[in-house]
Amino acid sequence: MRTPKTAPLALTLALAAGLSACIVLVDAEHHEHDRDARSGSAEPAGPAQVAPPAAVEAAEEERPYLLERVDEVGIIQLYADGFEGLSLREKKLVWHLYQAALAGREIYMQQRCAEGLDIRDLCEEILVHPEGVDPATVEAVRHYLKLFWINNSPYAYTTARKYVMKGTDAAALTAAATTAAAHGAHLPLAADETPATLVARLAPMLFDPAYKPIVTDKNPRDGSDPLQSSAMTYYGPGVTMADVDAFEEHYQLNSNLVRGADGKLTEQVWRTGLAEENIPAGLYADELNAVIGHLEEAMPFATAPMQKALAAQVRFYRTGERADRVAYDVAWVADGHSTVDTINGFIEVYVDPRGKKGGWESLVFYEDPKKAELIKKIADNAQWFEDHMPFPDLYKKKKVKGVTARSIDVVVETGDSGPVTPIGINLPNDNAVREQYGSKSVSLANVIEAYDKASGSTVAEFAWDEAEVARSEKWGSLVGDLLTNMHEVIGHASGRMSDENQGVDPSSLLKENTSALEEGRSDLVGLYFMMDPKLKELGLLDDPEEAALAAYERYVRNGAMQQLRRIAEGNQIEEDHMRNRQMVVRWIEAHSTAIEERHRDGKTYFVVTDAGAFREAAGRLLALCQTLKSTGDYQGTKDLFDTYGRNFDEALRDEVIARYAKLDTPAYSGFVQPRLTPVYDANGGLADVEISYPLSIEQQMLEWSGRAQAPN
Ligand SMILES: [Zn+2]
Repeated sequence: MRTPKTAPLALTLALAAGLSACIVLVDAEHHEHDRDARSGSAEPAGPAQVAPPAAVEAAEEERPYLLERVDEVGIIQLYADGFEGLSLREKKLVWHLYQAALAGREIYMQQRCAEGLDIRDLCEEILVHPEGVDPATVEAVRHYLKLFWINNSPYAYTTARKYVMKGTDAAALTAAATTAAAHGAHLPLAADETPATLVARLAPMLFDPAYKPIVTDKNPRDGSDPLQSSAMTYYGPGVTMADVDAFEEHYQLNSNLVRGADGKLTEQVWRTGLAEENIPAGLYADELNAVIGHLEEAMPFATAPMQKALAAQVRFYRTGERADRVAYDVAWVADGHSTVDTINGFIEVYVDPRGKKGGWESLVFYEDPKKAELIKKIADNAQWFEDHMPFPDLYKKKKVKGVTARSIDVVVETGDSGPVTPIGINLPNDNAVREQYGSKSVSLANVIEAYDKASGSTVAEFAWDEAEVARSEKWGSLVGDLLTNMHEVIGHASGRMSDENQGVDPSSLLKENTSALEEGRSDLVGLYFMMDPKLKELGLLDDPEEAALAAYERYVRNGAMQQLRRIAEGNQIEEDHMRNRQMVVRWIEAHSTAIEERHRDGKTYFVVTDAGAFREAAGRLLALCQTLKSTGDYQGTKDLFDTYGRNFDEALRDEVIARYAKLDTPAYSGFVQPRLTPVYDANGGLADVEISYPLSIEQQMLEWSGRAQAPN
């Protein structure tokens, strides 16, 4: 499963549901977690900051993040700075895995939309053969393609609804296709098709909003069958929920269910086949063979545990058998230490209305050595932090061990994981494997950073003055990382139950407030130590005083105001992390002089006036929260959240929503991935791999489909 990006920036560690401790994050506007939405608002810059595609012209060392805006979508460049620091062997490994990621991405386009590939090829061919075509039609095609590229289909990730082509019509598109073909365009013509009949075949998909309007419709409003109402291609024409319920699937994760010539359901397995075991080829055999070829080229450069995982996945792609997929899951989880890693397979099931079939995806990533060092430094000092917690010794652990989670940089994400990307991933999804072998959790650090850098306007809107904005720009990413890591590595691992409650599960005592209290406690650990000279001593912060102020301001902006935008209805906070953040801010406001509510031009601001007082109050509140937890004080915990965490002022919420509306933030964002280029020696051997950044979704997608060359 994955953690989508949902709110303003997000620094989330995606830990699975069902894992006890933390499902999330720590920080202010930047940490959100929401399992329901698949991907959320990206909060790139408001109108004032929106950079044109040629954002390169920005200040010299400033590299562009937000490249452009296409309707409600932001397009952001992803950077993988640590790639240069990998060994040559690792770079070669990444190169082959990157190729494997590109080789399978068209599987996912076909899974999302039956006409998807033909539509893409028609439109891209017109785009690269514009001679003699009406420029307005070319622009309409380009605009439509950008939405298609970001979503691997005509369907928006966020709403599952279809985009239609605007600014042209079927007649103009037919003329464009005909002219392009005359200039050498290779159109995806079926047998006996002409450019005109091709466009006629695709026209309902392209222009008719009522034709296959939704990719995944789990609960059709008119009560019709979910499989019939959904455009995804896992189920053939006429196949209904009742049909599937009455059918026993052998390949639940990896097959299409279609009606055979005899009218009975049959499974089209996604596999290449394996002649020596008499396993016939299935659907997507060509694409999977290409993926396998690259995975096999990668193996000589992989670590031993990774080789085992890659070999297991190759076998699964050939046989399609569940047992082989389980073997891959197990081998993948066992590979917990390789610097470079990949996810390549039929993984997430969000596109299937039944939640069974896996969308194809691939990610290639490496552990960011600098961030790994940061987490390690914190974890290595877990006992020091425990000993210096501002709560009674009675509730401290004598021996504490920091928890580690991996922070990674992504080099490429395709299929179900890109260009719209999660910010955290926890796999495998197979519960039986998780219980027996565990799982791997990663936080996509460079994705989070890019979201962070692409935004900006919300800070300006909710910060009291320029100095606060400047502090946020200077410290935002760093304190965000630190708070997350302190929360995860130290916070959740700290503290012990009272002597009377040893061995008692806190949730049996604290009930519905267990999670909110635990998340608040962990946030407070991060907030309390943020200002501690120890962080400077460890080399984590060179100016803890200013950094802490930036961290507190960020936390307060979110906890008191910004997060309210997500609760359009009612006046109660249900979600545990949101509840804990408001509790922390409102308690500190009530019990110290650290926070002042101010008003200017009809707008509300929460200003941190004294970082030292904030820290002192955070320490007192941490002691209170730890005591409530250790003693299992149900009533005390309930009172705390009822007073400070649960309810909010609807007028303030309305104000926040109105202020956001003016910022015109994108509903979601897609990422342009880094470009890898192989360098060959005189004998044609792979000598090196270079990384660069296309800064254009159009350039990248045309390179990937072979219709454009990378510049030299
Ligand atoms: Zn947590």
